[in-house]
Amino acid sequence: MIPFLDLHKINERFRSQFDAKVKEILDSGWYLQGKQNDSFCEHFAAFCGTDYSLGVANGLDALRIIIKAYGFGVGDEIIVPANTFIATVLAVSDNGCTPVFVEPDINTYTINPSLIKEKLTSRTKAIMAVHLYGQACQMDEINAIAKKYNLKVIEDAAQAHGAIYKGKRVGNLGDAAGFSFYPGKNLGALGDAGGITTNDKDLYEKCKAIANYGSDYKYHHIYKGLNSRLDEMQAAFLDVKLGSLDEDNNRRREISKYYRDNIKNPNIILPSTEDELSHVWHIFAIRTSNREELIKYLNGTGIQTNIHYPTPPHKQLAYNEFKEQSYPITEEIHNTVLSLPMSPVLSNRDVKEIADILNSFKN
Ligand SMILES: *Cc1c(COP(=O)(O)O)cnc(C)c1O
Repeated sequence: MIPFLDLHKINERFRSQFDAKVKEILDSGWYLQGKQNDSFCEHFAAFCGTDYSLGVANGLDALRIIIKAYGFGVGDEIIVPANTFIATVLAVSDNGCTPVFVEPDINTYTINPSLIKEKLTSRTKAIMAVHLYGQACQMDEINAIAKKYNLKVIEDAAQAHGAIYKGKRVGNLGDAAGFSFYPGKNLGALGDAGGITTNDKDLYEKCKAIANYGSDYKYHHIYKGLNSRLDEMQAAFLDVKLGSLDEDNNRRREISKYYRDNIKNPNIILPSTEDELSHVWHIFAIRTSNREELIKYLNGTGIQTNIHYPTPPHKQLAYNEFKEQSYPITEEIHNTVLSLPMSPVLSNRDVKEIADILNSFKN
């Protein structure tokens, strides 16, 4: 059997370093906002090339804290890709803002910058740039629109840790970025965790206070904040794993290259990228009009797959208010995508087997 994602195997590589960190934290008796957090945030900011990095409880919080820190709320509109994981949209609506959906590009799956302008109104405050599946968005175009219309650019970098767009890391391509360190992400903790990066000192300070009960110093509250902190255990694990992130992403690129060079089946559309460095292949999503049969066929040969995602946000019950809206490109993607196994611990043998089996699929 080839599992979709073998988290145990991924983390087993770090077992002795994790053991040492657990001992260190247990010996210290310090569990929140201590030196593990400081160390990870310092290293993660350096990795992204930003001035600041803040640890928070998860990726959704990272995004909603950024929006809250900008003071966006009821009556404000935020541009989001129609094709994304629901957390992007939840971060917007949780603050009372209205998500305004923009179709993706059918080839990159990320937001199509040329369709943003027609969605802007006097109430638009920001653009959420989601680097979906690990591929950096077309940031030059997005930043140019933002500059012209005085909008903030918030990166949803939850799937793209380490991707490089024109020499700069994801997380350093807009005004602020939210990361998720959910266990299955390219940089994953052993539980929930998230982070914010920015070069804006005021925004950083504000996010930091909001994430800690709106407090700038103990028992002094300047915002109606939240409790969303990165704990010492997760920060320590992430600090260990950050050292292997580039190597892991390169292995993902290698696997992706193998899939793209060797899967040759007229029923299957392969993902592509114009710039190998700009993609870290969090998800390797193929498209096929025979998805149900293909899933069955792969299951029969012991290959696990997944769908990212079966239903777009505007078709979810939670967003009933958008159910009459139509986003045909997004819907086409959701109806046809299928994610193949992708992780740094897949063996060459597994990857070859997957490609061979896909080539033998006849519709
Ligand atoms: C995972 C993910 C999030 C949310 O992160 P959590 O840590 O699970 O809260 C947000 N946006 C995207 C695109 C994601 O993939």
